[in-house]
Amino acid sequence: PGVGRPGARMSNVTVCVRFRPLSHKERKDEREEDVIFSFDKVFYEDAQQSDVYDFLAVPIVSDAINGINGTIITYGQTGAGKTYSMEGPSILHCNEQKTGLVQRVVDELFVCLRSSASTWTVKLSMVEIYLEKVRDLLDLSKDNLQIKESKTQGIYISGATEISIVNSSDALENLSQGIANRAAGETRTLHLLIWSPETVILKHLDLIGVKAGKIILVDLAGSEKVEKTGAEGRVLDEAKTINKSLSALGNVINALTTGKQNHVPFRDSKLTRILQDALGGNSRAALLCCCSPCPSNAPESLSTLRFGTRTK
Ligand code: ADP
Ligand code: MG
Repeated sequence: PGVGRPGARMSNVTVCVRFRPLSHKERKDEREEDVIFSFDKVFYEDAQQSDVYDFLAVPIVSDAINGINGTIITYGQTGAGKTYSMEGPSILHCNEQKTGLVQRVVDELFVCLRSSASTWTVKLSMVEIYLEKVRDLLDLSKDNLQIKESKTQGIYISGATEISIVNSSDALENLSQGIANRAAGETRTLHLLIWSPETVILKHLDLIGVKAGKIILVDLAGSEKVEKTGAEGRVLDEAKTINKSLSALGNVINALTTGKQNHVPFRDSKLTRILQDALGGNSRAALLCCCSPCPSNAPESLSTLRFGTRTK
């Protein structure tokens, strides 16, 4: 079995592994488990959605309320459990136990904001990066959004639809709309939650404010190798751009976690550029490397584990 390092934090990026359970079909195969890697935490197949949330997302949400941007990323081959970890079996209709990270983050964000004394607005954007173009999942007519940077907003996606949301169910309904707009068969989605304070209220002369911040949740495209997919033409182009942007992400996290802060190659892909101020600088991030426990997927699982260790 893999080795977890509970509580070990070398940098502002937490890296975890999650093995999904075998499906009924897979259970017929013999199971083999022989990996030794070092991660902040390993979630085995009996791990609950709440275990994953508690370990990797709770610190991100509580810091985010204090203006520290946060990112949660799921990585791994297709079928490894990225979307399940993010959204559960379905973002709108799942029982509490199976609820994914997205809903739990949104719920907690509203709980925290409501307990603060200031008024605030929360906005939701949802985009997808397809062939290195940023598409607006909340308005498909916007299919080539530009990434910009300003002193007040930091990195932002210019012209992206921003929906003001007032509560959790409001957020989930809009998210499910965006999910329905994802490119067929694939997910490489970025959900952005951005909030900012409105008027700050003085209460018993204590000034309790809400700092503006953002949380970006990223459900990456499958990390499987191009050669294995036997792809041609546009599908091959797509697979190549995906692999390029995933390796750009690996390089960025590697630079951040090994202290090469001066040479972080954020501009090597749209993905890393969008994540720049929610992954680098004063921010907190978690990478969940999702693996299939199936022996037939061992080479891809190994490659996912290598990606995860390379980023530490
Ligand atoms: P990915 O998004 O990485 O392609 P999915 O999240 O769609 O993979 O998962 C593939 C299948 O495995 C889905 O049917 C999903 O419901 C199931 N699955 C993944 N992780 C779990 C888990 N932790 N518990 C139960 N089922 C899971
Ligand atoms: Mg998926």
